Amino acid sequence: MNRMLISGGNGFLGSHLVSKAMKKGVVATVVDDMSTSKDINVPSSVKFIKEKIENFNTEEKFDFVVHLAARPSPEDYVEHPIDAILSNSAGTRNMLDIAMNSKGVFMYTSSSEIYGEASIIPTPEDYYGYVNPNGIRSCYDEGKRFSEALIMAYHRERHVDTRIQRPFNVYGPGIRADGGYGRVIPRFIVRALMDEDIIVHGDGKQTRSFLYIDDWLDLTWEFLTSPNLAGEVINIGSSEEITIYELAEMIKRMTGSRSRITFEKARENDPRRRAADTRKIENMFGWKPTVSLEEGLERTIEWFRKRIK
Ligand code: UDP
Repeated sequence: MNRMLISGGNGFLGSHLVSKAMKKGVVATVVDDMSTSKDINVPSSVKFIKEKIENFNTEEKFDFVVHLAARPSPEDYVEHPIDAILSNSAGTRNMLDIAMNSKGVFMYTSSSEIYGEASIIPTPEDYYGYVNPNGIRSCYDEGKRFSEALIMAYHRERHVDTRIQRPFNVYGPGIRADGGYGRVIPRFIVRALMDEDIIVHGDGKQTRSFLYIDDWLDLTWEFLTSPNLAGEVINIGSSEEITIYELAEMIKRMTGSRSRITFEKARENDPRRRAADTRKIENMFGWKPTVSLEEGLERTIEWFRKRIK
C-alpha cells in the first residue's frame, strides 16, 4: 500500500487531499502545527503529528511527500512573516530530504503569488514574475520562490522526482472565513449570509480567477501520481477573471442578502490582476475546470449556510 506524507494536511487543501488519498487506498500521515486551523479536520485513523515543518524530520519512508504547509491568507501571513517564510524555506528543505531518502515523489504547492504584479494576464508558467523582494508580501511570495529554486536544485543535483504546482485562489467547502485567516470568497459569503457589510479593499477593480476545490483535487491527484513528470511546473487555476466588486455583487445576489458593499483602504502590494494561463495543463492533461464560479459558489454558500443558521 502506498504511503503519503502531507505537511499542512489539516488545512483546507490538505484535508481534502487526505480524503482523496484515503479513497484511493493510500495511507496518509499528516504533519501540521495547527497554526491556521481551529479543529482537527482529518479522520482519527490518520497519523497526525503536531509539529512545525521546519522542525520536523523522520526516518520513515514515503512514496509521496507533499509539502502544503503555509499561511496562505495575506492578512495572516503579514502578521506572522517569520513563521510564513520558515515553513517555505527550512520546511521545504526538510520535506525534500524526506522525499530524497524515501526515493519518493515530491510535490510542492507553490502559488500564483510568485508572479507578483504580473504584466502578462493570464499568466503562463514561463513568466518570471514581478515581485517586491522586501515588501509586506515578500515573506510569502519570496518564500515560495526560494522553495521553487531549492526544489529545482534538489531535482537537478540529487535527481529527486519533484513536481511544482502553482494554485490560483482555490475555494470551496472547508475553507475558513474568520479573522485574518479568511480569504475573500468565504469572508464575503459569511458577511452576506449575516447581512453585514461586505468590505471591498481598494476600488474593487482588482481581479482574481477562482478555482473550485474539486477541480484542484482532480488535477493535483493526476499531477502527483502520473509517471514521468519529474521537474515539471504547472499552474492550477482558471483563466476567467472577475473583479472583486463583481464578486461581492454576485455573492450578494446569490445569497439574497441585504448587506451593503462598502470600501476600505487597498492592501499594500495587492496584485491588480491575477488569472492563470491554462494552456499547459490543457495540453498535458486534457484538463479544464469543470465547476463554474456560479456552481462552486452555490455549493460553498450552501456549506456555510448550514453552519451559520
Ligand atoms: N479582499 C477584499 N475584502 C476582503 C478580503 C479580500 O476586498 O474582505 C480583496 C483583497 O484585497 C484582494 C482579493 O480580495 O484584492 C483577494 O484577497 P485574498 O485575501 O483572498 O487573497 P489573495 O488573492 O490576495 O492572495
